[in-house]
Amino acid sequence: ELETAEDSEADLQPRAPVVAVMGHVDHGKTSLLDALRGSGVAGGEAGGITQHIGAYQVTMKDKSKITFLDTPGHEAFTEMRARGADVTDIVILVVAADDGLMPQTIEAINHCKAAEVPMIVAINKVDKEDANPQRVRERLLEHEVIVEEMSGDVQDVEVSALKKTGLDELIEKIQLQAELMELKANPDRAAEGTVIEAKLDKGRGPVATILVNRGTLKVGDVFVVGAESGKVRALIDDHGKQVKKAGPSMPVEVLGLSGVPMAGDPLQVVDSETRAREVAEYRSSVLHQKRTAQAPA
Ligand code: GDP
Repeated sequence: ELETAEDSEADLQPRAPVVAVMGHVDHGKTSLLDALRGSGVAGGEAGGITQHIGAYQVTMKDKSKITFLDTPGHEAFTEMRARGADVTDIVILVVAADDGLMPQTIEAINHCKAAEVPMIVAINKVDKEDANPQRVRERLLEHEVIVEEMSGDVQDVEVSALKKTGLDELIEKIQLQAELMELKANPDRAAEGTVIEAKLDKGRGPVATILVNRGTLKVGDVFVVGAESGKVRALIDDHGKQVKKAGPSMPVEVLGLSGVPMAGDPLQVVDSETRAREVAEYRSSVLHQKRTAQAPA
């Protein structure tokens, strides 16, 4: 198996926070992600030419960046966590101000607590006539989520994804939370990343969206990803543009895989193609053994 060296403190540099959006169905996760996507400098000027690759990065006016996982719903988050991939730094809990706390809201709260991932509560749909943000804050108390307004330390913000209000404040709160966490990674090493999503593309073959955790992934790099291996043929960013490299917290589509890996699989850059194939073959034989052992006689 592959062993990776730890980074020394001196090599660490600040990296963008990775943010996931969770909440009950129809409370506005998709709308909020779309609104946030348009809130950066690039989003405003690019005329909405965006690709859905499972994650995107927004560059703010002060040049700072935030990475959003845009697979709404809890599957991505829970599935990846179940597989040991903790890619999410911060969760935005979306609660519709008219609907209030619903079963999937509570489920999301429990996931965050179990994962010890800090939450920011976005009370959405405050433009609606029957919106009652205060009621949301009170109900959150019952689940031991004590927001700032209730003298707690969980940040909350009233937003309308529809009217695009409160977004700047939400972004400020994400940045504040990220600062507190002092998120860092070494960009100058062989890359390690995590599969956000993967598919077999008709024209391009196996494609995986990789979120780089540390190091810098480059065209030509040889890698192992789950039980697959490969050599980076091309890297494509969330605007559909080819890039030569991707550093920490950047999501990119990777072309040049031997097969389709699973969401949550780790990617590691290795020295040689022989080594990459060996590790991938070893892993796929272990996977195969597990499956045969589990299969009923
Ligand atoms: P998701 O299932 O959590 O991803 O929710 P969606 O983003 O698909 O939103 C569900 C519905 O709520 C859609 O009809 C949206 O147009 C609507 N919606 C989302 N945000 C707002 C908002 O801030 N105000 C109002 N009035 N409607 C919203």
